[in-house]
Amino acid sequence: MRRAARKGVARAFYNPPMALTLQQGVSLKALSTFGVDARAAWFARVQSVADLQHLQDDARLRDLPRLLLGGGSNVLFVGDFAGLVIQPALRGVALCGQTEEDRLVQVGAGETWADLVEQLVREGRAGLENLALIPGWAGAAPIQNIGAYGLELAQRLHCVRVWEAQSNACRDMWPEDCALGYRDSVFKRDRDGERVVLSITLRLPLRWEPITGYAELDRELAARGLGRPSARDIFEAVCALRRRKLPDPAKLGNAGSFFKNPVVERAHHVQLLERFPSIVSYPLAGGRFKIAAAWLIQSCGMRAVRRGAVGTYEHQALVLVNHGGATGAQVLGLAREVQHRVEEKFGIRLEPEVRIVGA
Ligand SMILES: Cc1cc2nc3c(=O)[nH]c(=O)nc-3n(C[C@H](O)[C@H](O)[C@H](O)COP(=O)(O)OP(=O)(O)OC[C@H]3O[C@@H](n4cnc5c(N)ncnc54)[C@H](O)[C@@H]3O)c2cc1C
Repeated sequence: MRRAARKGVARAFYNPPMALTLQQGVSLKALSTFGVDARAAWFARVQSVADLQHLQDDARLRDLPRLLLGGGSNVLFVGDFAGLVIQPALRGVALCGQTEEDRLVQVGAGETWADLVEQLVREGRAGLENLALIPGWAGAAPIQNIGAYGLELAQRLHCVRVWEAQSNACRDMWPEDCALGYRDSVFKRDRDGERVVLSITLRLPLRWEPITGYAELDRELAARGLGRPSARDIFEAVCALRRRKLPDPAKLGNAGSFFKNPVVERAHHVQLLERFPSIVSYPLAGGRFKIAAAWLIQSCGMRAVRRGAVGTYEHQALVLVNHGGATGAQVLGLAREVQHRVEEKFGIRLEPEVRIVGA
C-alpha cells in the first residue's frame, strides 16, 4: 500500500487530551432524531481511546449497562436509560493510502456522514455519492451497513478500527470479520459497549464508474437529461430524491425507514404474487426476493395515518414521525399496529430497522 498525497480531504485526527465529558441525568431528546424525551443516568462523550479506558477504570460506572450512541438517527428511546450512554466522537478525515484499485480514506467515528460525502464529492473524490444525505455519524455506518440507491457501505469498506473493552486493546476488522449484510453486521450482536468503532477506512475507486440501475435514481437522472452522469450529478439527484421523499429530522422527528424490507424465498414470492399481483418486489441473488415494506404498509391503508402525536409520513409510509411531543412508547405503539396490520393481511412480520432502547 502506497501513502497518498495528503491534500484537500485531510483534516487532522483530533484527539484532545482531557476532553472527556461525563455527566449525570442527561436528556437524550436532542441527541436522537426522533426527538422523544428520555434521560440517561450517565452520559459520556469520548474523543480518544484514553477516554474509553478512563470510563473502564471509573468504579461508579463499572456494573452499569452501556449504550453506544452516534448521531441518534437510528434509535428510539422508549424509556430512560439507567446506565451509561457513550458517544464516540473521535474526529478526523485523512487520506491514508492507496491500493492498485482504490484510494483509502480514514474517517473518525464522530464525523458526520452526510458532510463527509458532500466534501468528497466537492473535492472530486467519487465513490460515496449514492449514499448522500444519510443522517448519522461515520462510526455507526458499519453497524447496519448503511445503503441507498444501489450502494451499500460494504462495497466501499476497507476496514473498521475498533476498541474492545475486554482486552482493552484496538484492532482492525476487515469486511469479512464484520459479516455485513442487508442492514446487518456482527456489531448488531455485540453486548453493548463491548466493541466501540473508533474509525472506518473507506475505499474510493480510482477507476470510478457510476452506480446506476436503481429505478428511482435512473428516472431522476433521465428527467435531468443525464445519460452518462458524473459523481456530482448522482450526488445532486440523490439529494433531490431524498429531500422530496423523506422528512427532515430537524423539522419532523423520525429515524428514516422504521422497518426493514422483508426478504422471502421464491415459493413464498410466487404465492404472494398470485394473491397480490401489484406487489412491489426486487429479485436478489440466490433466488430470494425483497418486498417493499412501504408498499405493504400503504396497502393496509396506513400511509399518512395519525395517532395523536405520531403518524406515518405522507410521502413514505415506512417512516414513522413524531409530529411534536410524542413519547417513545407512542411511536412504538404505532409501530406495533403497523406490524399487526401487515401480518394480518400478508402473513409477513416486519422487523424493525430502528434500534429500540428500553422497551
Ligand atoms: C431521515 C433519515 C433517513 C435515513 N436514510 C437511511 C438510508 O437511506 N440508509 C440507511 O442505511 N440508513 C438510513 N437512515 C438510518 C441512519 O441514518 C443510519 O442507520 C445511520 O448510520 C445511523 O447513524 P447514527 O450515528 O445516527 O447512529 P445511532 O442511531 O446513534 O446508532 C445506531 C446504532 O449504532 C450503534 N453505534 C453508534 N455509534 C457506534 C460506534 N462508534 N461504535 C459501535 N456502535 C455504535 C448504536 O449503539 C446503535 O445500535 C436514515 C435515518 C433518517 C433519520
